[in-house]
Amino acid sequence: MKSAVYKKAGQVGIEEVKRPSIQEADDVIIRVVRACVCGSDLWSYQNPDIKAGHKNSGHEAIGIVEETGEAITTVKPGDFVIVPFTHGCGECDACRAGFDGSCDNHIGNNLGGNFQAEYLRFHYANWALVKIPGQPSDYTEGMLKSLLTLADVMPTGYHAARVANVQKGDKVVVIGDGAVGQCAVIAAKMRGASQIILMSRHEDRQQMALESGATTVVAERGEEGIAKVREILGGGADAALECVGTEAAVEQALGVLYNGGRMGFVGVPHYKNRALGSTFMQNISVAGGAASATTYDKQFLLKDVLDGDINPGRVFTTSYKLEDIDQAYKAMDERKTIKSMIVMD
Ligand SMILES: [Zn+2]
Ligand SMILES: [Zn+2]
Repeated sequence: MKSAVYKKAGQVGIEEVKRPSIQEADDVIIRVVRACVCGSDLWSYQNPDIKAGHKNSGHEAIGIVEETGEAITTVKPGDFVIVPFTHGCGECDACRAGFDGSCDNHIGNNLGGNFQAEYLRFHYANWALVKIPGQPSDYTEGMLKSLLTLADVMPTGYHAARVANVQKGDKVVVIGDGAVGQCAVIAAKMRGASQIILMSRHEDRQQMALESGATTVVAERGEEGIAKVREILGGGADAALECVGTEAAVEQALGVLYNGGRMGFVGVPHYKNRALGSTFMQNISVAGGAASATTYDKQFLLKDVLDGDINPGRVFTTSYKLEDIDQAYKAMDERKTIKSMIVMD
């Protein structure tokens, strides 16, 4: 089968590799229908130390169950499923508290293999996969895009809003205008925020967020951006949703909050020196981590998408064939597209 592989920094190619097979009793083999490139894949893509054959980090897909291990009771061959990046067991304390992205039993996500391929092996599959009614041919391309966001970016944007405890009437600031930031805007609106400010300098991304429920955009960054937000809100924000993963984004989030405010962070951290206690003087609540993709999808996100209440699929501004995977990465890396979708034959 064909699979995307990292070639070197800034280059992804396609190789013919062995089709994955069942290795453990709770494995499922999935034929990929749609996959995509994640903002977090770009960290690997740009890494100057990357060598040919480095494990590809693709981890979002929708597809058809092809084969199931003997312990699988929840899905059967032919089922159409969301394949999240997380691997919750559904039974441990973390999963039952709604934190299946950090399941106590299955430590680690992105297990089993690259999703930017014709087939993938999904380890710990029994509870984590989310069944979609019907078959792919029952849905429009727009709906398939929204279903694909349920593998990662929509639950991740929602997670930021949930851990920051966004509530009805809150003033919320979203840092990051990529796919996760766009989904965080949708989530803040779902939870009843009265004002939603997106920090963004790109006109197309500003426009998309305004259509999804953002009330204002602020293009300024740093101290200037913080001052602008405070001017608009007449003070600090109740919640800041950090959807980037850089220290500058964290500073921005902390800077727009009033003392006692809440920060939810879902950008994979690419900083090391932020110590517990650094927010002591501000009394800021800080929470974040991997999203609870399966929990949110099963509880409400899948229904919200199918009912047309939310349309997160708009973040896929371009589509590519698997053969053109390098273009899919490049377009995102150069910010020519918000998120690249991979359409399988
Ligand atoms: Zn991702
Ligand atoms: Zn668990």
